[in-house]
Amino acid sequence: ISVFDHVVRAPEDPILGVILTHLPCSLCVRLSFLNFPVVVTVAYNKDPSPAKLNLGVGAYRTEEGKPLVLNVVRRAEQMLVNDSSRVKEYLPIVGLADFNKLSAKLILGADRLVYLHGTSPAIQENRVTTVQCLSGTGSLRVGAEFLARHYHQHTIYIPLPTWGNHTKVFGLAGLSVKTYRYYDPATRGLNFEGLLEDLRSAPSGAIVLLHACAHNPTGVDPTTHQWEQIRQLMRSKALLPFFDSAYQGFASGNLDADAESVRMFVRDGGECLVAQSFAKNMGLYGERVGALSIVCRTADVAGRVESQLKLVIRPMYSNPPIHGASIVSTILKDRTMFQEWTIELKAMADRIISMRQQLFDALRGRGTPGDWSHIIKQIGMFTFTGLNSEQVAFMRKEYHIYMTSDGRISMAGLSSRTVPHLADAIHAAVT
Ligand code: PMP
Repeated sequence: ISVFDHVVRAPEDPILGVILTHLPCSLCVRLSFLNFPVVVTVAYNKDPSPAKLNLGVGAYRTEEGKPLVLNVVRRAEQMLVNDSSRVKEYLPIVGLADFNKLSAKLILGADRLVYLHGTSPAIQENRVTTVQCLSGTGSLRVGAEFLARHYHQHTIYIPLPTWGNHTKVFGLAGLSVKTYRYYDPATRGLNFEGLLEDLRSAPSGAIVLLHACAHNPTGVDPTTHQWEQIRQLMRSKALLPFFDSAYQGFASGNLDADAESVRMFVRDGGECLVAQSFAKNMGLYGERVGALSIVCRTADVAGRVESQLKLVIRPMYSNPPIHGASIVSTILKDRTMFQEWTIELKAMADRIISMRQQLFDALRGRGTPGDWSHIIKQIGMFTFTGLNSEQVAFMRKEYHIYMTSDGRISMAGLSSRTVPHLADAIHAAVT
């Protein structure tokens, strides 16, 4: 009898669950069910219909439905392989120094930067500490562990709804997780009054998780004017901003525009945390490349904070992996490669934006009842369609279209070829 006999089977992660290993066919590898509930995945997989459509994918896909490795990433990898002076030694606890410096510049930047030129005053004043972490998730976790040990307030407010992992990451780090109102199903937009009200009644000093851009899963972001009001309210109550930046450049196609929310909070001289991911914007999903930056009041505080971040990281995984961070720093430190990256990044963002327009036009063309303008207003990879679970089930049964039951569809999973089929299905579901 096993000493682990009492161990009960945990439920599959609804997001990452069974990926690929249980589904070895080449089709599954192409479709890669990241971010898709397992039950739906299995049903999709079994569906023999040639018209079937998977709109649950949480990673970018080309017009042909294939994963994309950016040309500039391939080139950077080739350069790394060809450089015989490169070795496989351990990185420092905080990761690759160049990567950290460039990542901080990328997110904090200046107002209008051309190839990382203008530099944020916070960086110039040496009051930002940046540590390389395991993609966005690892950066959030390290930040959360640090706050649980060294910050006086242990309550964190996350938007309702939010990316499902937030609750677990912050809860397991020892923070107490509360929500603030965010999405309004009636308008399929931001519940701005609810948001302000909830932040106004939060205890002074509470941590607030903010999606820097392209809110997941709703695709709804505050306007610049609303961000300014959020900033004023948060600063007046000493609420601590913790930005999750998983889609910089991927939302609008412009790296600066997508970082504006973070930069507004840095410009006022106050403190904040930023978790950055290079999964989406460089297509480095499996390389697990990310960074946590903590913007402090003074260089002295930043130095002390960094020393404590090392104590968080060392017993967790000692130091981060070298390959993905080397790809990113190779690209960010070379002007030509950086520019090449921005072009490829914009092409991904533009394809998603074009899918929004095509779907919107197709519904208008069919005279589908309802206001579908939220499809073109929402931002980033996902659209919160507003379809209810019965309509989602109907579309699956009758049209072989698969999405999460909350009606969220991945625009990256659509192509010009499949838009008409989706529009037909939505039309039938709501009429
Ligand atoms: N935050 C948000 C809002 C996300 O959508 C994701 C990815 N789905 C992440 C963080 C983390 O992703 P990763 O750890 O792959 O960088």
